[in-house]
Amino acid sequence: MSAPRTPPGIAFAWWAVLLALVTAYGAIAAEVTRGLVGGFGLRAVDFVVVGASTAIAMLAILPMGACLDLPQALAEHWVPQRRWAKGRCPACGHDCRRAACTECGAPFVRPESYAMDLATLRRAVRVLVPAWAIGLAIGLWGVAADEAAFRREVDARRAADPELIDHARQRAWPASFSELRWNAGRGFRGPPPFESPKVAG
Ligand SMILES: [Zn+2]
Repeated sequence: MSAPRTPPGIAFAWWAVLLALVTAYGAIAAEVTRGLVGGFGLRAVDFVVVGASTAIAMLAILPMGACLDLPQALAEHWVPQRRWAKGRCPACGHDCRRAACTECGAPFVRPESYAMDLATLRRAVRVLVPAWAIGLAIGLWGVAADEAAFRREVDARRAADPELIDHARQRAWPASFSELRWNAGRGFRGPPPFESPKVAG
């Protein structure tokens, strides 16, 4: 029997949609983790912590992986079963209640039901791995841009007020629950208790 295939264009489009959604999720996870860890700048240890936390956040959404297979479940199982139930050829939809379809030759047997299989895992890896890498890069870029803006703010304020000893503001969304802080004595740092070592201000 010529098994019904998922149109490659639809499978690709669905992969691209999921990749975009999971990448956005990964970028947010990376920025939130950076806010939780605290500190200023990106040392190797921060990179490892943020990268690993983002990977764990990726695995946390794996139970939603069934939606990975939506095009395959529809095209290869749901549609053929509906056709078969109506007495049509599961492969091409031609009206037939014979041993084999007179149009395409596919046998008139009940199509298999959908079930997750190794292909599901392969599809998950193809979404999660690039989404993790791209999301992490976007997240860390966002953090670096926010910290660079904060440095410029501090420079501008110190230029206007040489007596300035302290300046703080919230990080940009989605890490706005945490603070960026500069102090004349200690330089740029994150909030306690996870302070990075002093960075020359
Ligand atoms: Zn047929």
